[in-house]
Amino acid sequence: MTPLARLRKKAQEWGGDLVEVSEDDFNELFGYMKSAVVHPPKPGYVKAPFRSRPPFGVNYKERRVYYTPNVAPADLIHEMGHVFATRRSPDKPCAEFNFFGWEHALARKFGLFREWEKSNGLYKVTNELFYRELWPKDRKALLAKTLKAAQKRGLVSPNGVPLSIR
Ligand SMILES: [Zn+2]
Repeated sequence: MTPLARLRKKAQEWGGDLVEVSEDDFNELFGYMKSAVVHPPKPGYVKAPFRSRPPFGVNYKERRVYYTPNVAPADLIHEMGHVFATRRSPDKPCAEFNFFGWEHALARKFGLFREWEKSNGLYKVTNELFYRELWPKDRKALLAKTLKAAQKRGLVSPNGVPLSIR
């Protein structure tokens, strides 16, 4: 099974899904702009704001992550956090850092840790610093601290297994 298929199976176990759609279908759901005309998204569909190529987004209520062909599986881990590891829909302010520990626990479980680190290189871990700018020992400390915080919130089991809270 590919890493993507394994992530998908996990999402289904949690009552959601990872759904591949064409770019046109994606645009229909998540909205787009053409000839300076804005076509709004369908209700409930929230596009991931930064990583637009290839684009992906979520439907929080359905617990689904939508992506387009050639997505990097590790890129989906953060979006999975938005539907399985928080009780706030991503169209409202949400403390994303709360599920950072959940993300790396999930990445490790599926052998995607290195890819996840790369995918999160531009994740702001402090007001000044991106994840990729941290020294190895500071990364290690951050990973340990955020894992502990995620465990405290019940997002990760005491023995390190990421859980769905929805
Ligand atoms: Zn996010």
